[in-house]
Amino acid sequence: MKKILSFAALIVLFNSCQHATENNGDMNLSALNKLKAGNERFAEDSPVHPDETLKRKQELKKEQHPFAVVVSCSDSRVPPELIFDQGLGDLFIIRTAGNVIGTYEVGSIEYAVEHLHCKLVIVLGHQSCGAVKAFLESKGEKHQDHIQSIVDYIGSEQEVTSIVDSLKKNPLLAVKLNVKHGVKLLKNSTPVLKPLVDKAELNIIGAYYNLDNGKVSFEE
Ligand SMILES: [Zn+2]
Repeated sequence: MKKILSFAALIVLFNSCQHATENNGDMNLSALNKLKAGNERFAEDSPVHPDETLKRKQELKKEQHPFAVVVSCSDSRVPPELIFDQGLGDLFIIRTAGNVIGTYEVGSIEYAVEHLHCKLVIVLGHQSCGAVKAFLESKGEKHQDHIQSIVDYIGSEQEVTSIVDSLKKNPLLAVKLNVKHGVKLLKNSTPVLKPLVDKAELNIIGAYYNLDNGKVSFEE
C-alpha cells in the first residue's frame, strides 16, 4: 500500500513539475527572448497559453510584475497576449489605433517603467494597418471626427510627410516609419524615459507583425 501511495505521489509530483515547466519554462530568458519564443510558438500554431491558471490568478491578486510593455495597434487581429503567447500578469499593454502615442499613453508607460519596473518597451506596428492607411488616403482633407487626431499623429513625423507619395505605393514602409516615430518619441520623452534609455536601464524597440505568417520581427 505504501509503495502504491509513493508511486501516486510521484505521479502527482511529475505532473505538477510538468505543469510548472509549461507555465514557467522560459522564466530564465530575457524579456525580449521571452517575447520571441512566445511569438514563435504562436506562429507555429503551437501556443502553450501560459499563466492562465487559477493559481496564476491567485498569485496576481496583490501585485503584478509584467516583464514587458507593449504599445500596439487596437486592430483586432493583433492582440499582444495571443501573438506573444503570454498570459495573466505577463504584459503591460497600451493599445490605440495606429499605435499612436500621446500624453495618456506616455503616462501609462511611465507607470509601468517606474512602478512595475519594466525594462523593455516594444512599439508594435502591423501589416495592413487601417490607421496608417487612413493617413495615406487622407489627401490633405480633414476628418470631421476624432480620427483626425490619429491621422495628425502619423503625419507629424517629418520623415513620413516628406515622402508621402512614395509611401502610398509602399504602405509597409509607412507602418515601419510610424513605429520608428513612436520609438523616437519615447526615447526622447522626459523626465522619465529618456534618462533611463541614456543609462541603458530601459530598452525601447520597434517591431512589426506580419499578418500573413503571424511572425513578429524586431528592429534591434
Ligand atoms: Zn493598425
